[in-house]
Amino acid sequence: MSELQQTGKCIIFSAPSGAGKTTIVHHLLGADLGLAFSVSACSRDPRPNETDGKDYHFLGVEGFKQAIANGDFIEWEEVYANNFYGTLRSELERIWSAGKTVIFDVDVVGGLNIKRIVGDNALAVFVQPPSFEALEERLRGRSTESEEKIAIRLAKAKQELTSASQFDVVLVNDQLERACAEAEEIVHQFLVTA
Ligand code: ADP
Ligand code: 5GP
Repeated sequence: MSELQQTGKCIIFSAPSGAGKTTIVHHLLGADLGLAFSVSACSRDPRPNETDGKDYHFLGVEGFKQAIANGDFIEWEEVYANNFYGTLRSELERIWSAGKTVIFDVDVVGGLNIKRIVGDNALAVFVQPPSFEALEERLRGRSTESEEKIAIRLAKAKQELTSASQFDVVLVNDQLERACAEAEEIVHQFLVTA
């Protein structure tokens, strides 16, 4: 993971899978905050509703390993067994050169790694589900993973929930509308003061 030329700010949203970070990030992208989404690379196949280059750069396992070898990532991780995800340096350069703020939707370890790299130019937000049961319900309700994959994500979530205090802000996603409004306020405050 090599040096990064920092010419802008970024907002990191991390949470256990199913907590609602993608939903909140989509809301923020629609608000007038000058944010642009960092499209991660991953090795898994697209879900039916996902588009290559918009939701992720779907590289496949071989393509992902090649990108690691090329030094294309500022951070990458094997989030689940043989399932790689990573943040492309080219995404930050693209967004910062357009004068916008980068917004990330990454897992908890990835979020803390980006915060470590970007420091004060980054605001790291942990999205907390109101309870573990609510998280489980949301993950099942999304109907995007098999039962086996849901069990893996829930086991990982238990560990991830213990990392909340390492983030700059903890945002409880109970009522979606309220959480989105609070997210807007948090981001706005960071952009006007930091
Ligand atoms: P993540 O990106 O953290 O994995 P998603 O944004 O995909 O989570 O949300 C998981 C599921 O929970 C989705 O089906 C989403 O519509 C739903 N969801 C998000 N926020 C809430 C909320 N506050 N109350 C109820 N359901 C929610
Ligand atoms: P999903 O397969 O549900 O889209 O994502 C699985 C997990 O990978 C989520 O927690 C998501 O936030 C995380 N993720 C997505 N992009 C990145 C990335 O670039 N780096 C890291 N470390 N995690 C990521």
